[in-house]
Amino acid sequence: MQKKAIVSACLLGERCRYDGKTKRDDKLLDALKEYEIIPFCPEAPLFGTPREKIHVMEKEGRRSIVTDESNKDVTTELADEIRSFMQKHPRAERIVLKSKSPSCGLGTTPILDETKRCVATGNGIAAEMFLQHYKTAKISDENEFHSR
Ligand code: SF4
Repeated sequence: MQKKAIVSACLLGERCRYDGKTKRDDKLLDALKEYEIIPFCPEAPLFGTPREKIHVMEKEGRRSIVTDESNKDVTTELADEIRSFMQKHPRAERIVLKSKSPSCGLGTTPILDETKRCVATGNGIAAEMFLQHYKTAKISDENEFHSR
């Protein structure tokens, strides 16, 4: 059975970022040649592209995902979208996520307080859910494929 890799779609060349741009990463694509690639982007199908930025916001010890200007809490919508993706794709050996994203970031996402001051770095909502769900997968971000 071919091994599967879930990869943030913007790293694959899709123009699904909030600003309509991509973050295509050829080194990553080359390194995962042996894998069946499963593109993943929870934000574009829900909010369209381009779209308002979103942030991880911490309030009274609870983290949520909030839109930048309209200040709307979109945590539930995003969690539902990610859950539905995980149901469709129950298995993966590798997961490579886009760093610093409020959805995809793995330990690199800015966590803001209510005044939008960065108070920590942590996981985006999808990274958090993937860590719980894909227990045996190797999960990393695109920095794995670049010398630091
Ligand atoms: S970082 Fe994640 S949510 Fe953001 S555009 Fe890329 S795949 Fe979509």
